[in-house]
This record gives sequence, C-alpha cells and structure tokens, in this order.
Amino acid sequence: MKFSNYPITEEVKKGVEGMGFSKPTDIQFKSIPAIIKGEDVLGIAQTGTGKTAAFAIPIVDKVFRSSIKGRKDGVRCLVMVPTRELAQQIQEVFKAVSKFTTVKSFAITGGVEQDPQIHKLNKGVDILITTPGRMYDLISQGHLSLNRVNTLILDEADRMLDLGFYKDIEGILGRLPKHRQTLFFSATINAKIKKLAYSLVNNAIRIQISPKDPVSKNVRHYVTNVEMDDKRYFLENLLEQNAERKILVFVRTQVRAERVVKAMERVGVDSLIIHGGKEQSERNSALKAFKAGDCMLLIATDISARGVDIPDVEIVVNYDLPDLVENYVHRIGRTGRGKQKGEAISFVAEGEAPLLFEIEKFLGKKIQEIEVSKKEYQTILDLSNEKSLGDLLSQIEFDLENESPKKKRKQKNKKK
Ligand code: ADP
Ligand code: MG
Repeated sequence: MKFSNYPITEEVKKGVEGMGFSKPTDIQFKSIPAIIKGEDVLGIAQTGTGKTAAFAIPIVDKVFRSSIKGRKDGVRCLVMVPTRELAQQIQEVFKAVSKFTTVKSFAITGGVEQDPQIHKLNKGVDILITTPGRMYDLISQGHLSLNRVNTLILDEADRMLDLGFYKDIEGILGRLPKHRQTLFFSATINAKIKKLAYSLVNNAIRIQISPKDPVSKNVRHYVTNVEMDDKRYFLENLLEQNAERKILVFVRTQVRAERVVKAMERVGVDSLIIHGGKEQSERNSALKAFKAGDCMLLIATDISARGVDIPDVEIVVNYDLPDLVENYVHRIGRTGRGKQKGEAISFVAEGEAPLLFEIEKFLGKKIQEIEVSKKEYQTILDLSNEKSLGDLLSQIEFDLENESPKKKRKQKNKKK
C-alpha cells in the first residue's frame, strides 16, 4: 500500500509526499482507514513508529473536505499534548501535511505571551494543538469557543488521562460537543486508563496495535550498576568513548540536571539543558541546538521523555531511573526512531533497585545487564580522577600565565 492509493484528497497526498513519506508505517496502515471512516480509535504503537502522521493525515483530509464545502468559523479539531515542545512539533507535522490545502493549524502553549495567540485564533484556526493549562486559561477568559470541534485527539493519551492532567482535561471535555470523533494515541497504556478512555467515547474503540513489548524494536537497552556518587564518572567515560555521537541524558530532578551540567563542564564537556524550571525561550533554543547537532549532549528531566522527535539521537542514558515506570519506555524511545537504531543504558544505584524491579515488571522481562568488574569500575574512576587533576593543574598554569581566574574550556563532545 502506498499513500498515493489512499482515498484522500490530492492536496493532502501532495503534502505527505513533500514530507518524504511514500509507504505508511504499521500504525498508519491500520489506523488511517478507521479514522477516515469516522471511528474512534485508540492507537497503541511503539515509540518512533509515526503515530503523529497516523492521525494528522486523515484529520487534515477530513477538515479540508469539510472546508471545501464551505468553511465555518471556529476550531474543528483539538489536539491535546502534555508539553509545549511536543505541541510545536506536532503542529509542524500538521503544517506539512496541510501545506497544499487551506487548512490552518496552530499551536498554543503556555510560557509565552497570550495576546499574539488570541489574535491568531481570531483570524481563524481549524486545527488547534495545545497543552491543557494554557487551553484552560483561554477558555475561561472567553477567548476560545469549542462548540464546533468535531475531532478530539489526545496524544500521549495515557499521560493526558492521568491524574496530573485529568482535571484540566475533564473541564475541557465538558465543553466539547458530545457528537465527535475521539482519537487516543500512545506507546503505553494501562488497564485503568484504557477503561477511562472507553468511558469518554460513544462508539466502540478500535484498538490498532497493542505490542506485547512496548519498547521500540530498534532500541537495544541495558542496565549497569553504578553507585550514586560515581555516576558522573561513568557518564564522562561514556561521553569520551562516544565523542561523535548525539547523546540524551535523563535525570530525575531539575537540581540534578543542573548538577550534571556543572560536572560535565568541570571536565570540559559542553552540554545543553532542558527542564521545567527554564524559561521557554531557553528550552526552545536548547532543543533547536540539539536537533541541529550544534551541541551533541542534552541533559533533561522527564519533561522531554515523551513524544519529542529529535533526529539522530544515538544513545539515551538514564542517569537516574524514572519515577514513573512507563517513562522508561518513553525516554529510551527518543532513540531508534523511524528506521534508525539506538542504544540506551541505565545507571542503577543500589537504592534504585526497587524502581528497576517495577520497570522490569512493567516490561514483563529483565533488562540485560552490563557487568562491570571491580577492576574495570576502579579504572573508570581512576581515569576520571587523573584527568580532573590534570585539568586542574593545567588550569593553574593557565591562570598564572594569564593572571585570569577563568578558563574557557574546550568542547570535547562536539561534532566536527
Ligand atoms: P511516534 O509518535 O510514534 O513516536 P512520530 O510520529 O514522532 O512517532 O514519527 C517518528 C519519525 O518517523 C518522524 O521523524 C517521522 O517524520 C517519521 N515518519 C513517520 N511516518 C513515516 C512514513 N510513513 N515514512 C517515513 N518516515 C515516517
Ligand atoms: Mg508521538
């Protein structure tokens, strides 16, 4: 099957072709026809398998067809996602699919000024992609009416229906027309959330692909035992051995993210950082630089675990294990996207053993362990200490020469 054979408008086909897609992925193959038929869909497929286009293609087509018949004012399709970065990224996909149509998509997120967003909304938007917080603000201030919405999409659906978000979502659902098409997509789902999803739709949901192993087939993933205080030496060692590769490191908290950046700085490695305590502009520029490969190391919290599609991430490091078991799958799914292959390694300290147990229970199998002998472990620490000492000495010499207390460190982990 090729996209050219689908019962979708020529304009949409041209958009898809322009994205470089010729054949649908499995989840696209299974869900596009059902969505075209107007069915409610719960699409569960592994990370990086093209879930965005699985809903964007048929929905742009649906909105475009209805607009040909005569455009009505107001948002027709509402897409809700957990993070601002993801909203922007999904809007890019909608924009590409609808490039040759009259369909207008727009992303509204928090962290930036509201007025330009309201202005844009007033000019007419067909497909609105948003995070629940800002969305809720706009509705309650009367800037947004949802009575023409006939399609609701929850991407990262299990996250959106989970406790933290559900209150906002519930408030929004109450304002949507009852008669609508509802689509849920994610790489993970549990029984409780599935039940909740069922309760929100009228029609029976078509479950598309429900993989036994939620981890992407393209990712080889390992754990290794590392004491909490030694993790930075192990990271340094890993970066040194993979100097040319794009690496994404996940940590548990904002404070730890800052600490890891500093620790890497001390050994001369530049890194980017994204967490919820950063300004949106800083988050955007860090993501942009990492996507472009200007810097090959990004330290992030779980805010970047879901959905973001960064080209060429070759290694994901779980510097700390995630608190939410399903985030293990999402984090390591930032590599091995599309046809690419990737690797993931988790540093597990003694105190994290219960978390690892829970993750393995969730996956239904053990994660392969890389055993490091006592001697190898010590070598990693020694090499790092030697270097830090060497670095310190060279800095003292440098300071004496220049009478300057600061030294600009060279970027080791950078692409040539
Ligand atoms: P998911 O939401 O399943 O994690 P995405 O929708 O982010 O995955 O897509 C992952 C990657 O696959 C993206 O870079 C996207 O451009 C690419 N992709 C999606 N569909 C196709 C296709 N039919 N052919 C080729 N590449 C595709
Ligand atoms: Mg996705």
